[in-house]
Formats: sequence, structure tokens, C-alpha cells
Amino acid sequence: MTSRRAIVTGRLSCEANSVKRPPGAARRNFHDLCTRCGDCVAVCPEGVLVLGVGDLPVFEPRENGCSFCGDCADACKTDALDLTRFAEWPWRAQVADACLSVNGVSCRICQDSCDQGAIRFHLKTGGRAEPSLDAESCVGCGACSAACPAGAISLQRRQPTRLEGLG
Ligand code: SF4
Ligand code: SF4
Ligand code: SF4
Repeated sequence: MTSRRAIVTGRLSCEANSVKRPPGAARRNFHDLCTRCGDCVAVCPEGVLVLGVGDLPVFEPRENGCSFCGDCADACKTDALDLTRFAEWPWRAQVADACLSVNGVSCRICQDSCDQGAIRFHLKTGGRAEPSLDAESCVGCGACSAACPAGAISLQRRQPTRLEGLG
């Protein structure tokens, strides 16, 4: 029988896997390090941080993407956020079938919003065009997902490379 501890641990690791914390967030003990002060949310010039469940900060790009300016980490008085961990940002954009262009409605808003040039469109029959995302160019800023009028873009945890997986 599955133990209560295993269920709770499973739930926590599930939560840890899907909740997007600010850039540079401590991976394992963020809950313990964060004092819920909200300073990172207050200083973010792009407004991409909000206080979520338990007043813990969450990355939610609703109007802009993250510029990775580092202001949030600078404002954080504990080790909950640290600039040295910015390179570990695990999120990358993913486009779902709700994309207008895939369904024959002309739209290139995500492509226009991507400073990295990570989104290209491939013309299909019937006036449709399919976006393809270059995972190497995407930095996971979320600008495209904030801009998409169909809510078709989400940020998903990228697969670790083999070396990262072994680390
Ligand atoms: S790096 Fe800058 S833009 Fe990104 S969440 Fe932190 S403060 Fe906001
Ligand atoms: S500034 Fe640091 S301690 Fe304060 S809410 Fe943000 S992550 Fe938590
Ligand atoms: S999340 Fe990736 S694809 Fe979307 S705008 Fe940012 S860099 Fe471009």
C-alpha cells in the first residue's frame, strides 16, 4: 500500500515540477528560504511575478515576458533567489493546437513578440501555417505566451540534457 509520506512527497514533487518560481529560485528548499516578503514581485519592471498560493512568488507572464534583468534576485534578502542560478531557468515555450494560425486564421503575434527569433511558421494547405519553435533559441521569457490571443502557448519544463540529468 502507498504510504501517506509517499503520497505527500509525490504531491510536493509534482507541485515543484509544475509551479514556476521566479528566475534564480532555489530548486530544493525554496519554500524554506522564501520569507513571503513580496519584494521580488514589487520590483519586477515587467510585472511577470505575482504572489501565489501561500504568498509565495510565482512567474506568470500575463502582459510581458521576463527580461532576466535580475532585479528580483537583487531585491531578495535571502538565498531564495540568486543571480547565479539564472542560467538554470528550465522553462521553454510550447504551442498547442489552439493556435489560430494552425486553424487557418492569420496570426503571427507570437513570432512578432519573440526577440530571440525562436518562432518560425511553415505554410500548409488551406491558408494554415504551423509554428515551430527552436528550443535552442528560446530562452523561456514568456513574451509569446503573454501575447498569444488564443492562449495557445504555455511554458513547459525543458527536458534535461543527458549530462544535466546525470548531474
Ligand atoms: S529577472 Fe527582472 S523581469 Fe524577470 S522576473 Fe526578475 S525582476 Fe522580473
Ligand atoms: S524577495 Fe525573496 S524572500 Fe521575498 S518573496 Fe521574493 S523570493 Fe521570497
Ligand atoms: S518564450 Fe521563447 S519563443 Fe516565446 S518569446 Fe520568449 S524566447 Fe521567444
